[in-house]
Amino acid sequence: MTKPNPNVKDWLADDAPSFDDFASGKVGADPRPQLIGMSRDELADALSKIEAGPKSIKMRVQQVWHWLYHQGATEFANMTNLSKALRAALEENFIVGRPEIVTEEISEDGTIKWLLRFGDGQEAETVYIPETDRGTLCVSSQVGCTLNCTFCHTGTQKLVRNLTPGEIVGQMMIARDRLAEWPTPVSGRKLTNIVLMGMGEPLYNFDHVKAAMKIMADEEGISLSRRRITLSTSGIVPMMDRCGDEIGVNLAISLHAVRDDIRDRLVPINKKYNLDELLAACRRYPGLSNARRITFEYVMLKGVNDSNADAKKLVQLLKGIPAKINLIPFNPWPGAPYECSDWDRIEEFGAYVNRAGYASPIRTPRGRDIMAACGQLKSESLKKRKSEVLAEMRSKELQNPVSE
Ligand code: SF4
Repeated sequence: MTKPNPNVKDWLADDAPSFDDFASGKVGADPRPQLIGMSRDELADALSKIEAGPKSIKMRVQQVWHWLYHQGATEFANMTNLSKALRAALEENFIVGRPEIVTEEISEDGTIKWLLRFGDGQEAETVYIPETDRGTLCVSSQVGCTLNCTFCHTGTQKLVRNLTPGEIVGQMMIARDRLAEWPTPVSGRKLTNIVLMGMGEPLYNFDHVKAAMKIMADEEGISLSRRRITLSTSGIVPMMDRCGDEIGVNLAISLHAVRDDIRDRLVPINKKYNLDELLAACRRYPGLSNARRITFEYVMLKGVNDSNADAKKLVQLLKGIPAKINLIPFNPWPGAPYECSDWDRIEEFGAYVNRAGYASPIRTPRGRDIMAACGQLKSESLKKRKSEVLAEMRSKELQNPVSE
């Protein structure tokens, strides 16, 4: 099992431009189009509006792309190989902003959780999980979620909207700003992997997720191998083939139960795409091989899905699928309807699955001291904002009492 790296605080950039420059939220309210998140073609269109000539546009796209995604530039003024006139024109017409960092919390185990706010005031969470041999960023794809998985805190929040490609890539940019990881390092990166496992169902925001992953994988920028990107789905069967064909990333399945009646309860989308259909889609997932296994996420819920019979059924269901099973001790939130399985039970469950030939690591609970379970920071922030609004209304009432 990989070990957490608690030295993360040493890596954080004290003077990262994103924190100070964007914390005011002014960038989000800026009417100028945001360049982060544009495809190369969209960038070419945008640049052609301020500079003529198709020949120079191609070169300009290369240059600006390099500044945005290799150097991590947050100001046009720093793009020193562009003419002053062009830098001024860029400044006048576009921004290279980041989401606003509402909170940054660092766990004792080195996990960092950011609550980010976008231009329209909506918020989503991003979590960085450092381990000895890798650093994984858990990225959100939607604000809230439609799927109401009953063990998931985000499932208690309504879907507000899909995130744009720029907002998805922006989460990576923020993490790299804070980890002082610009320009893109050739080796020894702190942020090595992406999992689309934060708030939302990524396959319900397919086009934006696809565009964002294309930017992250671009070799002239962030240059993250698609093999280091994992998309986690609750099982949107019709989109799974497209995910393999068009995005080409690793797949993780939020499985959590081995019987339809239990999975209907835990992951209600199961009523639409049941276990048979889901596992058939896994078997035909493009690019599936022993070197490229599917990860099955299985949250351990006391007395619900953690018996030996469940472990046996799990092994039967996965037969023939190159797979790894991540056993996740349930991370409860206030009012959660489940309890975490006892540790002995988790170990016994894992040992059974392991004896059947499947890797079944027990995921170390991370960031418990900073509420790293998905959706918790956002809920806290909403509660806080609501109480702030109420306090403000109350103080206005006191200043301007309504005459009776
Ligand atoms: S587990 Fe994923 S799909 Fe299910 S409610 Fe939570 S965020 Fe949505």
